[in-house]
Amino acid sequence: MEEASLILLPHPWHHLTVEKVSQILGSDSDCGLTSEEVVNRQTEYGLNRLTNQSKESIWQRFIKQFQQPVQYILLVAATVTALFKEPVDAGVIFAVAVGNAVIGFIQEAKAENAIAALAEVVTVSATVLRDDQKLQISSRELTIGDLVVLAAGDKVPADLRLTDTFDLQIDESGLTGESVPIMKIIEPIDSEILLADRLNMVYAGSLVTAGQGMGFVVAIADQTETGRVAQLMQHSTNLKTPLTRKIDKLSRTLLYAVLGLAAMTLAIGLGRGGDFFETFKAAVALAVSAVPEGLPAIVTIMLASGVSRMAKRNAIVRELPAVETLGSTTVICSDKTGTLTKNQMTVQEIVAGGLSYALTGVGYAPEGHILSNQQPVDLATNQALRECLQAGLLCNDAHLQLDDDQWEVVGDPTEGALLVAAGKAGLDRDRIETELPRLDVLPFSSKTQYMATLHEHEGTRVVYIKGSIEAILPRCLNLLQPQSEQIPLDLNQAQQQAEAMSKQGLRVLAFAKKVIANHAETIEVETIEPEDLEKDLIFLGLQGMIDPPRPEAIAAVRDCHNAGIQVKMITGDHPTTAKAIAQLIGLQKVQTALTGYELSQMPPDDLRYAVESTDVFARVAPEQKLRLVEALQAKGEIVAMTGDGVNDAPALKQADIGVAMGMGTEVAKEAAQMVLTDNNFASIRTAVEEGRTVYRNLRRAIGFILPISGGESLTILLGILLGTVLPIVPVQILWINLVSAIALSLPLAFEPKSQSAMQRPPRDPNEALLSRGLLLRILIISVWNCIVTFGMFDWGLRSTNDPDIARTIAINALVSSEIFYLLSISSLVPNLVAKLRGKRRQLSYAPAIGAIGLGILQVLFSQWAVMNELFETQPLTFTQGALSLVAGLPIILWASLVQKIDPID
Ligand code: ADP
Ligand code: MG
Repeated sequence: MEEASLILLPHPWHHLTVEKVSQILGSDSDCGLTSEEVVNRQTEYGLNRLTNQSKESIWQRFIKQFQQPVQYILLVAATVTALFKEPVDAGVIFAVAVGNAVIGFIQEAKAENAIAALAEVVTVSATVLRDDQKLQISSRELTIGDLVVLAAGDKVPADLRLTDTFDLQIDESGLTGESVPIMKIIEPIDSEILLADRLNMVYAGSLVTAGQGMGFVVAIADQTETGRVAQLMQHSTNLKTPLTRKIDKLSRTLLYAVLGLAAMTLAIGLGRGGDFFETFKAAVALAVSAVPEGLPAIVTIMLASGVSRMAKRNAIVRELPAVETLGSTTVICSDKTGTLTKNQMTVQEIVAGGLSYALTGVGYAPEGHILSNQQPVDLATNQALRECLQAGLLCNDAHLQLDDDQWEVVGDPTEGALLVAAGKAGLDRDRIETELPRLDVLPFSSKTQYMATLHEHEGTRVVYIKGSIEAILPRCLNLLQPQSEQIPLDLNQAQQQAEAMSKQGLRVLAFAKKVIANHAETIEVETIEPEDLEKDLIFLGLQGMIDPPRPEAIAAVRDCHNAGIQVKMITGDHPTTAKAIAQLIGLQKVQTALTGYELSQMPPDDLRYAVESTDVFARVAPEQKLRLVEALQAKGEIVAMTGDGVNDAPALKQADIGVAMGMGTEVAKEAAQMVLTDNNFASIRTAVEEGRTVYRNLRRAIGFILPISGGESLTILLGILLGTVLPIVPVQILWINLVSAIALSLPLAFEPKSQSAMQRPPRDPNEALLSRGLLLRILIISVWNCIVTFGMFDWGLRSTNDPDIARTIAINALVSSEIFYLLSISSLVPNLVAKLRGKRRQLSYAPAIGAIGLGILQVLFSQWAVMNELFETQPLTFTQGALSLVAGLPIILWASLVQKIDPID
C-alpha cells in the first residue's frame, strides 16, 4: 500500500533517469512487470479508461430540447391559451411540448450511445512487455509501471516515460497543437520545462508517426495529461450532419411561413369582426398544424438505425454524416492486396540461374513440390535456386503456424509464401538460421520496396535482399549460375522474364545477395546501411506468387458498376501484375495502368483527366494517394478511399469517406470515417447500399409527414376563408402530428433496402432535399388530404350539426388516409407479393404494426371518455366510423400516381 502511494505521488518523471523511474515504479526496464504484479496493480488502480465526463448536465441537455422554434411556438400557444382560461387545452399543448423534448432527448442519447458503443468495437490495442514476453493487449488493461512497446502507426495508450527510442517520432498535435511530429529522446531533462518540451515523455492519445520506442506507463486513465483536459479526448459524437442541417433549415423556413400565415389569419378573422379568442385559436391551430413536429426525431432515428445496420455488415461508421455521404459516393478507390484480393499468397513460379520452375500445392500448407520439367527438383543441381529460396527464408520476418488444421501466416503473407516455397524444396529454416545468424535488418517499406538482412556466415558477412523488380535488378551486377559461378547479368533478359510472370498476374519478387568482404577486414561490420546496397549485388532469381481475387469482391465491383460507381484499384504492385488482377476482378479501364511516378510528375490539370482514364494505379506510394483523391475531387467526384498505414492518413482525411481497415494502424483508423472489420471490399459496397437506403427512407418519411401538415393547414385555411367553425382544433392537430405521424413514419426508417438501390446512378450531392418531384408529391397529397378532411368535416357538420362530432369524423378520415398512404408507399405490399411468388425478399412488418397500433389508438381517441375530454372529441356511431375509414381509401390511387411522377424507391 505504501509503495503504491509512492508511485502515485506526482513525480517529475521527465527529470529522472530511466534507472530512477524504474526503481520508483518497481518495474524492470528490460522485462517489464511480472504478471502477478500486473494483477495487483490493476485491482489497485483500475482500468486505463477515461470516465465519461459530459460537458453538459442531463438537465442542460433536456432544457436544450426546448430551445427550438417549434417548441417556442408551443410554449407561447400554451401560455396564451392558459390566459384565456382554457386549462385543459393549455395543459395538453404544454404536455406535447414536454413530450417532444423527452422524445428528442431520448433519441439523441440513444444515437450517441449507439455511436459510442461502435467506437468501442474498434478497441485500441497496445503491445507490452510482461515477464520478458511481448504481449498484445487491449489498451484498457495497461497499468502503472507496464513497459509499453511503440511502433509506427500506434496510438500512445497511456502517459509513458521513454526508456528506449529508435527514430521515434510522435504527433502530439491533439495535446499541444504542434502539428510537426516530435523526435523523442530518453535522457533526463530540466525539471522546469513545459509539457511540449518534455522530449523523453509521450502522452496518451498521441500518434506514433515513425520509428520505434519503449517506455514505462506513469499515468493511466483520467490521470493522464489528456484525461485531465478530457474535452480534448472526448470523441465528440456530433449528431449534426449536412442532412440534419438541411432539415433544420427547412423547419425554420416553414416556421416563418407559418407565422406569416397565422398573422394573416388573425387579421382576416378580426377584420370580419370575429370573436378574438376563436380567431386566435384558429391562428394557433394553423401554426401548430404546419410545423412537422415529428420530423427532426425521425431523421436522427433513421441515421442512427443506418449506422447500426452497417455495423452488422462489418462497416463501422465513426461519424454520423458518413452515412449520407456514402449514399452519394461516385468513386471508390480501393487497395488491392487484402481488400480486393485474398492476401493469401502462393509462389507458383521461380526463375533462378536462368532456369524456370513450377510449384505445386496451394495456400500455406507445406505440401507440394518444386518441379523442373515435371520432375521434383534436386537443389544440388541448381545452387542459384537454392540460394534464391534461402534468401526468401532468411530475409523474412513471418512465421507459419498450424491453427485448427489450417496453416496460417503470422506476419506478411508475401513472406509467408516464401517460407512455404522454401519448405517445398526441403530447406530447414532452423538449421539455416543457426548457420547464418542475422545481425541486422533493413525492414521492408512500400517506399524503398525492398528488405535486406545481414548475416554472419563462417566468418564472412552476407546480405540477402529481396524486393520489387525495379528496386533490385538495377542494383545487380552479376547473375548466379546453377553451378555457383557468376556471369554478368543480362538486365534485359531478366526484365523480360519478370514481365512474363507479371502478365499472368503474379506478384514478382526479385532476390539478390552481397558478400561484404572476407574475414579479416569485416569483423567490425554489424549493421547495414542502404548505401551499402546501391550496386554490385549478385542476382539470385525471381519468385512469382499469386494472390487470387476475393470472389465476393468481383461481385461487389459488378454491383458498383451497375450503381454508376467507378472502382479504382490502388496497389504497390507492378503495373503488369496490377492490370492482370484488375482484369480478373472486372474493373473497366484496365488497358493502361498509371504509376505512382507518373502521378507525381503530372501537372494538376493533366492529372485530373488522367485519373478518369484508367482504373489501375500501380507502384503507388501512400503519399501519392492524396494527390489521387484531390484530382478526383477536383472533377466533382465524391471519393471513398481505403488505407491502413500511417502514410495513408492524409488521403483518408481528404477523401469524402476515408475507409480504414480493422487490422490497420490506429493512425489510419483515427483519420477515417469508417472502419471495415473484415478488410473486405464487398463491405464498402454494402455500406454504400445502406447509405442509399437511409436517404431513400428519409425522402419517404418527408414525403409522408409534410402532406399531413399540408393537409391540415389547407383545411384550416379553407375553414377560415369559408367562415365555418374551426374544422380541427390545436390539440387535435398535435395529436395527429405527433402520435400518428411518428407511429406511421417511424416504420419507414426500418424499411428494407430497395431491390433497385444499386441499379441507379449516385445521387447528386448538391441535389436539394426537397426536389421538384418531392415537392409535387407533397402538394398533390396535401390537397387530397384537405379534400378528405374538409369534406368529411362538412358532411359531419351538416348531418349532425355538432362541430365536435364533425371534427372527430374529419380526423378519423385523415388518419385513415394516412394509413392507406403509408401502406401504398412502403415496400411491405410489393415485397409480400414478390415473396408469395417465390422470390427472396426481406420483409419488415413495421408499417403493418404501426398501422394497426394507430388504428387502435384512433378508436380510443374517438370513443374513450378520457380522450374525449382531453381532445374535445365525441364518440361516433358505427356508420360514421365506417365512413371515415372508407374515406381514406381513394388515396391509394393518388399514391400510385405520384409514385409514377416521382418514384421514391
Ligand atoms: P501492395 O500491398 O499494394 O500490393 P506493397 O507496397 O506492399 O504493395 O508492395 C510493393 C512491392 O514491393 C511488391 O510488388 C513487391 O514486389 C515488394 N514487396 C512487397 N512485400 C515485400 C516484402 N515483405 N519484402 C520485400 N519486398 C516486398
Ligand atoms: Mg503490402
